[in-house]
Amino acid sequence: MMILLLLAAFWALAFFRARLPVWTAAIALVLGFWEYRSVSGIGFWLIIWLVFLTAAVILNVPFLRRGLISSQIFKWSKEALPPISRTEREALEAGTVWWDGELFSGNPDWKRLLELPGPRLSEEEEAFLAGPVEELCAMLDDWNMAEELRDLPPQAWRFIREKGFFGMIIPKEYGGLGFSALAHSRVILKIASRSYAAAVTVMVPNSLGPAELLLRYGTEAQKEYYLSRLAKGEEIPCFALTGPEAGSDAASIPDTGIVCRGMYGGQEVVGIRLNWEKRYITLGPVATVIGLAFKVRDPEHLLGDREEPGITLALVPSSTPGITVGARHDPLGIPFQNGPNSGRDVFIPVDLVIGGPAGVGQGWRMIMEGLAAGRSISLPALSTGAGMLAARVVGAYARVRRQFRQPIGGFEGIEEALARIGGNVYMMDAAREMTCGAVDRGERPSVISSILKYQSTERMRSIVNNGMDVLGGKGVSLGPRNLIGRFCQAAPIGITVEGANILTRSMIIFGQGVIRCHPFILKEMQAAGDSDDKRGLKEFDRLLCGHVGFTLANAARAFFHGLTGGRLAKAPVGRARRYFQSVSRFSAAFALAADTALLTMGGTLKRREKISGRLADILGNLYLISAILKRFDERECPCEEFPLVAWGCEDCLAIIVEGFDGFMRNLPFRPAAWLLRFLVFPLGRPLAGQRDSVSHRVAQILVEPSRVRNRLTEGIFLPAGPDEPLARLEDALSRAVAAEPLEKRLRDAVKEGRIKKGTELEILEAGLNAGVINTDEANAVWLAMEARREAIRVDDFPSLARRLEKQGSGSERH
Ligand SMILES: Cc1cc2nc3c(=O)[nH]c(=O)nc-3n(C[C@H](O)[C@H](O)[C@H](O)COP(=O)(O)OP(=O)(O)OC[C@H]3O[C@@H](n4cnc5c(N)ncnc54)[C@H](O)[C@@H]3O)c2cc1C
Repeated sequence: MMILLLLAAFWALAFFRARLPVWTAAIALVLGFWEYRSVSGIGFWLIIWLVFLTAAVILNVPFLRRGLISSQIFKWSKEALPPISRTEREALEAGTVWWDGELFSGNPDWKRLLELPGPRLSEEEEAFLAGPVEELCAMLDDWNMAEELRDLPPQAWRFIREKGFFGMIIPKEYGGLGFSALAHSRVILKIASRSYAAAVTVMVPNSLGPAELLLRYGTEAQKEYYLSRLAKGEEIPCFALTGPEAGSDAASIPDTGIVCRGMYGGQEVVGIRLNWEKRYITLGPVATVIGLAFKVRDPEHLLGDREEPGITLALVPSSTPGITVGARHDPLGIPFQNGPNSGRDVFIPVDLVIGGPAGVGQGWRMIMEGLAAGRSISLPALSTGAGMLAARVVGAYARVRRQFRQPIGGFEGIEEALARIGGNVYMMDAAREMTCGAVDRGERPSVISSILKYQSTERMRSIVNNGMDVLGGKGVSLGPRNLIGRFCQAAPIGITVEGANILTRSMIIFGQGVIRCHPFILKEMQAAGDSDDKRGLKEFDRLLCGHVGFTLANAARAFFHGLTGGRLAKAPVGRARRYFQSVSRFSAAFALAADTALLTMGGTLKRREKISGRLADILGNLYLISAILKRFDERECPCEEFPLVAWGCEDCLAIIVEGFDGFMRNLPFRPAAWLLRFLVFPLGRPLAGQRDSVSHRVAQILVEPSRVRNRLTEGIFLPAGPDEPLARLEDALSRAVAAEPLEKRLRDAVKEGRIKKGTELEILEAGLNAGVINTDEANAVWLAMEARREAIRVDDFPSLARRLEKQGSGSERH
């Protein structure tokens, strides 16, 4: 009993992050009480008190603590921490820390998140979505673009340029639309639901590229000249970083810029002689201005002391002599403009460097900071738009398509796939919107942007794969009637660009997160790296004390929440309370796991990508649940949305539990893993996974026209017109739903022997003749059958014409 009380008292001290003197006093009290009740001799107690007092003095007197303890750890840290290169430091320091910091704290402050106002579009932004964006979508025929034009139609290009689609992020003072991140994201989402190629085309100039870079780092003259031209579509930009030898390891670009004197516009100026070879550059083949990344060397010190200032960005007109552009790659048959470009001895004045001479050597920082915001917007919006379209198409098809005499959407196997589609769409959209809100409040959340890019592109791939499984041959047969096949082709593109996903998951998310978002690590690293050892040690010692308290608190919290299943964690009251509590529980466990990984693996963690990847999964899924809960709260917890909330949270929780399990099974230092397992899963690994009842309800949302189905897919382009495959499918869905009770009446009549068995048509006729249904009802069943037949049709092509068509497009491609 005594021991239990003691443990409870120490647990409480840790939980509430008691300060060192309080710990010391508490331990002294315990020892005093124990001595009072003890029968041991004075010699024993003398030793105990001596040990205690020595430790207490060393720990409580800063001078002694620093000299005897902190200095050793300080020395170890200096050696254990891998040297950080300039590019790594710039990547680590880019952007801001937001909700990711709360998740790393082990005790997220829900009030802080829930009190943030939900992002809203302005009237002007709404009008743009309802006007020009609808118009643009209506003029896009994705099949024709992919198979014949291999490009956007000329009128779409014109419209995009004239209506300012390329200048959404450019402020009004420069002639741009000056849209919020939310509006920008909604525009991309809507276009993506119509055409992946068009969405990429619009997205790139608004993402990391000349406009974004000029806004943040350009000189006034550069802004004045270029921003208005970009906003009006008079210039088409591209951003060229990747080359044959530098893909994921983009900082290793071999492209050079040598500072020298040269002739430009008839005058001798200080400039840069460029040589480069780039590939995969989106809009490259049609760009008029290239945002070029290269490494500057200044052997004659024309710009300053540094001989190798490093990565630099410049705006290079594509018409400059020495540049070769125009060839195209074929990214999985998706017809956006993408291709290589190169330059031989291209001379540009130093004024074309973004930021002018002061911008030389600042390129990597610019790229990293630009990515911190851009990654939060474009690809998540594109993936969500594709996911929403899939939800709508696949849900309707599952209700309309029949096999074994019933809609396939009623089979449990199909329900699982439908639930994965619906649940993921809700989750992605919630995270997209919450993150755009943060960007609009001025955050540039670098870690969150990586999480969102990774999660939304991966979940889009899952949605499309599940959709293809449900559609069967209808999904496989390409043609104008196939609305999902193109997304299946395109899914790897989002996975690859803006930081390929394997790298993002296994290196970036946790690697950057633990340094940026952890309340102590970055500061400790800075203290350890201080050139003044004395000052560094003093700061390091202070931080170390805080860090130990932080770790103990998270250990206490993780254990307590593990014992209670998080039931006593502070959380908003309501239907989703248990999910809030689960995030609080696993956030404490995550913070503890992060510290354990760092303590036991130190700098080698950077190479242990499997470990880091699992921690990235945990962090990413904690973020996604937070977004789901924020959305549910903002919408005042509508009952009909709860299955989507439950599916999303349970899916994320299953991944989180799996992540912890895998992490603890593979942590190299086994005693730490055992202790961690005891603290995090004191009652064993929690049961986690989808409940069949939840997936059934989510599937129902997809296959039934309803307010919640519309809300789930709110923002996509819904074309009208008899020739539009989506409109036809939606029509077939409504007719199928209306006809179902009538069809049941007919089936019952067959069972009762009132009418004879037969084909659908024979039964319909017999039912009408026998008075089971009236003429209007028979008409409704007939129209539903017709609509179904139309909806399940796939395209076919005359074989010769098709062959010729293929040959034509093939010769164009090569
Ligand atoms: C359609 C398309 C459009 C693009 N548009 C542009 C553009 O406009 N501008 C531009 O500059 N670039 C662009 N890119 C380039 C894109 O950013 C790169 O493709 C990307 O950085 C990956 O480089 P890579 O293809 O050479 O793959 P690689 O770098 O060769 O990577 C191959 C695989 O190895 C993995 N990997 C690499 N290093 C690690 C590691 N340390 N740990 C774990 N895994 C690792 C990657 O995740 C990937 O899975 C585009 C690419 C494509 C395909």
